[in-house]
Amino acid sequence: MTNTISLLLCLFLCATQTFYTFPRQDYEQRARQVTFEEAVSLSAQIQEDMNECLKIENVEAEIEFLCQEEIKKLKLSIQELNEQKEAYALQQEEFLHKSSLSKEDLACIEQLERTQREMIEQKKTLKDVQSNLYKIQKQVLPIRNQRIRDQEAQKILEERFMERIPEMNGEGEYDVHKVIGGSKNLPVYGGQKAFVKSNNVSCLVAGDFEIDTFSEYWIYPIQGGIISAGTWSYPNGAMHLGMDYAVPMYTSLMAPANGLILYANNPVSSNCGYLGNMCGWPYGGGNTIAMICAVAGSIYGVTFAHLSNNIYVYAGQQVGQGQVIAQTGNSGNSTGPHCHIEVFTLGTDLETVVNYFASTADFAFGCGWSAPATCSGYGCRVRPEVIL
Ligand SMILES: [Zn+2]
Repeated sequence: MTNTISLLLCLFLCATQTFYTFPRQDYEQRARQVTFEEAVSLSAQIQEDMNECLKIENVEAEIEFLCQEEIKKLKLSIQELNEQKEAYALQQEEFLHKSSLSKEDLACIEQLERTQREMIEQKKTLKDVQSNLYKIQKQVLPIRNQRIRDQEAQKILEERFMERIPEMNGEGEYDVHKVIGGSKNLPVYGGQKAFVKSNNVSCLVAGDFEIDTFSEYWIYPIQGGIISAGTWSYPNGAMHLGMDYAVPMYTSLMAPANGLILYANNPVSSNCGYLGNMCGWPYGGGNTIAMICAVAGSIYGVTFAHLSNNIYVYAGQQVGQGQVIAQTGNSGNSTGPHCHIEVFTLGTDLETVVNYFASTADFAFGCGWSAPATCSGYGCRVRPEVIL
């Protein structure tokens, strides 16, 4: 029964699947020519096109899987029928030497003919499935090529205009409920409760915002992927205050050390990124996390931007090294799936930093957004590559 259903489904999908086509444009050409003002809407348009292509590719992958399964089953069944046929054919040999055929002999001949007919049918179905699969694969090829060209167009836009859009700056508005603070109960992710302590500090873990234990060393927060842009500059030379780590959507982001979450917010969808999309806090960060990490006797500010909507921590939460705190994404001012990481060495005590952050939600810890390697009364902006 299941066989029949999946066969029918495969044939149906293979035969009826028509791809949504829309007038695609030469985005690469336009990316080379647009003005800065037009770049934002072009980037959004390209992102939309890319998402559409991805959807089609995913459907195709599913159909291909079904068809491949069906082809496997059909081949197996044909093989079985062939064995049966050979067995009957052997018996038939014997009939040739007989003067008259018994009832059983006749039944055997009939069975042989039935097997042969069934085999012909199955072979025909196999051929149909195979040719439909081939058709689908051929149809999807231009879609896949289009997506690759879309990616290329986004890269061109990024190279041309990135220096004109600081990836993060102090503008925009933070969600006051997502900042560690003392005046109210904290927001809750993942079903745990935060509460207000008598000393006006919101916290939910033993040790308040003391970090119970320091980590001895750092671990890398993301496995796999590559550094696509380092600090302090993009490959094209424009200033870049953090490190970009290119990783597939929904890769696990781990706490690089024991620490305390200062801010965690997922106001936008996971894959909404495009050049100039200034949503989130800080401005353009999309879904973001700021945390304190405690390593070998020192404390650090570490921030993550462009995350997916899957954020598993909340302000005030104490986290352990290696704990998955979110999944990466492509949100905010981002031209493709990646995670932007910034690191600050903090020269002051935990309480001072937490109080400063609670009143400002300043992801730059006083160091500003206009120059690399800057220091403030709280700490210094440093290269993540050196620390992590
Ligand atoms: Zn970046």
